[in-house]
Amino acid sequence: MSGTVIPGTPIAVDCWSVRRASGARLFFLSHLHSDHTAGLTSTWSRPLYCSPLTARLLPRHLQVPSHWIRPLEVGQSHVLGEEVTVTLLDSNHCPGSVMFLFEGAFGTILYTGDFRYTSAMQGELALRGRHIDCLYLDNTHCHPHRALPSRHRATCQAARIIRAHPQHHVVIGECPRLPLRSPRQAVLPLPHAWSPLGSPGRCVQPGEGDAAGGPGAGVQDLGGGESLAPGADEAAGAA
Ligand SMILES: [Zn+2]
Repeated sequence: MSGTVIPGTPIAVDCWSVRRASGARLFFLSHLHSDHTAGLTSTWSRPLYCSPLTARLLPRHLQVPSHWIRPLEVGQSHVLGEEVTVTLLDSNHCPGSVMFLFEGAFGTILYTGDFRYTSAMQGELALRGRHIDCLYLDNTHCHPHRALPSRHRATCQAARIIRAHPQHHVVIGECPRLPLRSPRQAVLPLPHAWSPLGSPGRCVQPGEGDAAGGPGAGVQDLGGGESLAPGADEAAGAA
């Protein structure tokens, strides 16, 4: 789900092009995956609203000046000026990731950003009995052929792979930009939801690891040694 400027509002979410968001006055960051921060750099010079955890990570990873970052507590409603009330909701996607519930004269808008649905979300107080006028929904993997493993199952699979290769340096997350540090370094592309700072990556070359269960699944031996490609049971599909 890429960023947008919400028509009829002063709101831009995950949109860091000043030209594209020229009419926006309130800027929100849902989470730190790189496909949501394109254009967000050390030169950013407007107030930016995000979760407290994202606020802590942002200066370190993108060098955004701290004095422009406005952390907002998750689960509470915040009045921003006279126009917008926003409530941040945990999106269960990666550390610090949130959904935004916007309310104002424009109506009620729920912007999910990237999220992993759980039934607990139905009990979210801010959403209970609420009429949503406009829904921005992340449907990136809303396809019957892209069934995701549960977080628990994927965690177990990753732990099993790591334990099975104690002589390797196993890196979990986005991999195309990772430096190679040793001939026995292995890269394990795991669900998008796991990578706090990366975006969906694909380390496995065509023909390698495809049988492991879908896009992004598999382990690549970068050093020319033994193959680490997991069996089908060890696959963790992209999320
Ligand atoms: Zn994401």
